[in-house]
Amino acid sequence: MKKVYLDYAATTPCDPEVVAAMTPYFFDKFGNASSLHAYGQEAKKALEDSRQTLADFIGAQPEEIVFTSGGTESDNYALLGTAYALQKKGDHIITSAIEHHAISEPAGFLEKNGFKVTYLPVNKDGLVSAEDLKKAVTDKTILVSIMHANNEIGTLQPIAELGKITRAKGIYFHTDAVQTVGHIPINVDALNVDMLSLSAHKFYGPKGVGALYVRKGTRLQTFMRGGDQEKGRRASTHNTPGIFGLAKALELCRDKMQEEIKFQTALRDRLIKEIPLKIPQVRLNGHPSLRLPNNVNFSIKYIEGESILLTLDLLGIACSTGSACTSSSLEPSHVLLAIGLDHETAHGSLRITMGRWTKESDIDYLLEKLPPVVEKLRAMSPLYEK
Ligand code: PLP
Repeated sequence: MKKVYLDYAATTPCDPEVVAAMTPYFFDKFGNASSLHAYGQEAKKALEDSRQTLADFIGAQPEEIVFTSGGTESDNYALLGTAYALQKKGDHIITSAIEHHAISEPAGFLEKNGFKVTYLPVNKDGLVSAEDLKKAVTDKTILVSIMHANNEIGTLQPIAELGKITRAKGIYFHTDAVQTVGHIPINVDALNVDMLSLSAHKFYGPKGVGALYVRKGTRLQTFMRGGDQEKGRRASTHNTPGIFGLAKALELCRDKMQEEIKFQTALRDRLIKEIPLKIPQVRLNGHPSLRLPNNVNFSIKYIEGESILLTLDLLGIACSTGSACTSSSLEPSHVLLAIGLDHETAHGSLRITMGRWTKESDIDYLLEKLPPVVEKLRAMSPLYEK
C-alpha cells in the first residue's frame, strides 16, 4: 500500500545526514562535555561548534543559547524562569489564547500561584492584534509570550511589531518558534524578541533536544539545578549526539530553505485551491497567506476529524486533526474555538502538513482519496444535506 506522511508539524523524520553526523558521538566520541580529558574535550568542541551554528542561524551570540530537552522545556523555562526572576517587579504575564500547551499550562500554573495572566484573543484568521497587546500591558507586566506560528492552523504572528511594543515598555518578550525554526528565516533582532524556543525534531533533527535563546542581560530563574552545565542555567550532562544533530539539521535547513519554501508553498496553495473545488462545505482555518509554507487546515462540515483521520490512515495517509498532543482528546481544539468556530465545525478539522520528503504525487494521492472518504462519512451523518 502507498504510504503518505502528511503530519510534519507533529514531528519530522530525522534526515539521514543528521543521523550520520550524530553516530560517532554515540561511539568513539562518546565523552562527557564537562570532562577535562581528551574524550571530554572532543565532546565539548562539538557542543560549542553546535552552539555557534545555532547562534548564527538565528542571528544570536553563542553565549545566548541554552540547550534544553526540547520545545516544552524551553517554553516552561521562559515562562517560569521569568516569572520567578521578576516577581518582585511585577506579577502580570500576557500570552495568547492559541498557544501550545507547553505555554498555556505553565501559564495556568502561574495563575494558580499568585500571578495574573491575560490571554489575548485572536481574530478569525488566528492573528493577535498589536492594539490588544498595547491595551493589555500594565505597569506590573513582566513578560509577553506569543507564538511565532501556530502549530494547528499555521498562522504567523506579527512578532516584530509586537516586539516593538514590549521593547518600548521594557517588558521581556518570548516567542515559541518551535514550528518556524528551520522552515522560514529567523533573526532574533529583526523579531525584537528576548527569548525564543526551538526544538530539533520539528526540523529533521532528533527528538528530545532543543534550545532557548536568551538575550544577553535577560534575567531568568534556573529550575534545573544539579550541575554547572550551560553556565549554571540548565544542569544535566549534555546530550552531545542530540545537540550535534540539531546543529547538523540546521545546516541542512539553511542550505535547502529557499527551495523548500517555494516547493511547499506551491503544494500548500494547490491544496487550498483544490480541496474546496472537490469537497463542498469546507472552511480553511488560519490566515490564507500569512501562514507556514507547509500547513493546510480545513474544517469539513458534518463529520468528525477523527473519523477522517482513521479512514485516511487505512489508505496509508497520515494527517492530524489538531496538534499531536491534543488529538487523542475529545475536547475540540482551543485554537479552533479561539478563531470563532462552533464545537461541531471545530471537531471536523483536518491538518495536513508537508515537509522535505513530500512529493507532488503524495498530494495527488490525497486529492484522489479524500473526497470519496468525506462523501462516505457524510452519507452516514444525520446532519448532512447535499
Ligand atoms: N510548541 C509548539 C508550537 C509545538 O508545536 C510543540 C510540539 O508539538 C511544542 C511547543 C513542544 O515541543 P517538544 O515536542 O519539543 O517538547
